[in-house]
Amino acid sequence: MKYRITLIPGDGVGPELVNIVKKVIENLNVDIEWEEVDAGEPAMEKYGTPLPQQVIDSIKKNKVALKGPITTPVGTGFRSVNVSLRQELNLYACVRPCKIYPGVKTKYENVDIVIIRENTEDLYCGVEFPAFSEPAKYIIELSKGKIFSDAAISIKPISKTGTMRIAKFAFEYAKKYNRKKITAVTKANIMKLTDGLFFEICREVAKNYPEIEYEEKLVDNMCMQLVQKPELYDILLLPNLYGDIVSDLCAGLVGGLGVAAGANFGDEYAVFEAVHGSAPKYKGLNKVNPTALLLSAKLMLEYIGEKEPADKLEQAISEVIKEGKCVTYDLGGNAKNYEMAEEIIKKLKS
Ligand code: NAD
Repeated sequence: MKYRITLIPGDGVGPELVNIVKKVIENLNVDIEWEEVDAGEPAMEKYGTPLPQQVIDSIKKNKVALKGPITTPVGTGFRSVNVSLRQELNLYACVRPCKIYPGVKTKYENVDIVIIRENTEDLYCGVEFPAFSEPAKYIIELSKGKIFSDAAISIKPISKTGTMRIAKFAFEYAKKYNRKKITAVTKANIMKLTDGLFFEICREVAKNYPEIEYEEKLVDNMCMQLVQKPELYDILLLPNLYGDIVSDLCAGLVGGLGVAAGANFGDEYAVFEAVHGSAPKYKGLNKVNPTALLLSAKLMLEYIGEKEPADKLEQAISEVIKEGKCVTYDLGGNAKNYEMAEEIIKKLKS
């Protein structure tokens, strides 16, 4: 069967990593025709926008995309392409498996956590008002003295609809992958109405899945628990902002951003991407680890039904990491990323 999949090289270290993934997948006997489209800096240069309509159209047509990282300028410039893409395509569920591969340098053993992060709501919804704007002034007035008059304002919506669908997604995921426990994580002791609603809905959904243990933790305590005893956790279910932060924490537990894979799912489309960003200081140096994007491609293969090649790819990556002879700097080696990829290809062929 031939698959047509949208490929977004992105910017920074994205293009070099995407090329590597293409090459490795060529050795897997899966017939993929890539439809390559620009987003981020190259699209800005060519079309004057970081997210041209053809990117959205291509994903809508092909239903599946593999994406390199895209830079988001801080404070000014364009809004995050990543966030816009997730919102435009309604990719409401972000899944980030964090497990330790033997050979990875980490202080921990026995970590196998899946982060399920709500992707469209919360402080990431993009509703912000500059200081002294009319909406900011209006909200400040409503706050009755709780907010300084020169504050900029971000809105944090958490809805029943949004929480219901991510909670159902998480429990269905747990069922499908035979996971035993879901820990919902928020700061509901302080944000009683928004985070409180998130817990309330998760609790309601949990009742339909008695075979899966459900518990709740506050995000500050959760961070400490993860650092001290990560082996106690299975699936973490979080709203958008905490999910983003805790993802990097968990990536740190299992060896860093170089090995952290991810996927974004909606009811119709799926976009696979590493957790890491465009690492601009490493651009063009071929230094950064290709594992994170390769493992994201492994999730993509699984998703399209190519489980055997997906397992084969994971096995080959795992062997190369375990041997430790030809790995990138973050795994304690000095191989270039394409050299590590060649080693992975050798394993695939052997
Ligand atoms: P980053 O993830 O790009 O890099 C932070 C550091 O992590 C790097 O300096 C490097 O030391 C390490 N690192 C990252 N990827 C690695 C890899 N594959 N192998 C080994 N080490 C790796 O984070 P940042 O510097 O905060 O962000 C850079 C840009 O990327 C920002 O504009 C940010 O908004 C964007 N970003 C994009 C995405 C995305 O496209 N999904 C995700 C996160 C950040």
